[in-house]
Amino acid sequence: MKDSEELRQKVIETCLTLREQGYMFGTWGNISVRLDDGNILITPSKLDYAEMKPEDLPVISPDGSIISGTRLPTSEREIHRGMMNRRPDMNAVIHTHSPYAMACSAIEGGIPAFSEEIAQLFGGPIRLSEKFAPSDAHVELGKVVCDSFGNDNALLIRNHGPIVLGRTLDEAFVSCQVLEKSAKIYINLLQTGAKINVLSDEAVARGRDYFLNGYGRT
Ligand SMILES: [Zn+2]
Repeated sequence: MKDSEELRQKVIETCLTLREQGYMFGTWGNISVRLDDGNILITPSKLDYAEMKPEDLPVISPDGSIISGTRLPTSEREIHRGMMNRRPDMNAVIHTHSPYAMACSAIEGGIPAFSEEIAQLFGGPIRLSEKFAPSDAHVELGKVVCDSFGNDNALLIRNHGPIVLGRTLDEAFVSCQVLEKSAKIYINLLQTGAKINVLSDEAVARGRDYFLNGYGRT
């Protein structure tokens, strides 16, 4: 993506929308996007989204050094940077503290692929990161999260909250919504005590392929 005032404004507006919708609280939650030159535009640390201006967003390099900007990048930058490095197919990362996904981040097993929406958007179950890492251990947290990702584009950071990847910021934003909706439905399903039917691997793969390649063809 080209670094521009419009892109920076779009990142800020996405943060504001997510906060309005209850996905982000205070300054918890952060967004990054990959720029055309390979560097990463990222939300700053400890700055109210309502006060954020386009020039407040720092740019970091793939190795984490600050390229430009006067504010410090989010303390969770190691997650963003690590994901951008490992997933060249993805260009946007959103991490929120949305309540139902947070609840699921404390349920062993994560969220199974029980709907076509999950199959299409995520291509499989939404897994939990392999082990707990405290938020103040930035490098360790980044490593645990990145090591836990495979080819999926969403993960529940254990006892913390969700993270989604997207080819574009818009796609990551939609994935945030679908993840939170799926988490809410899953909590409701668990409360019924009924056996949950999970889609087969084949059905999941078919749904994902349709989402990536099929929409608009028919
Ligand atoms: Zn967080």
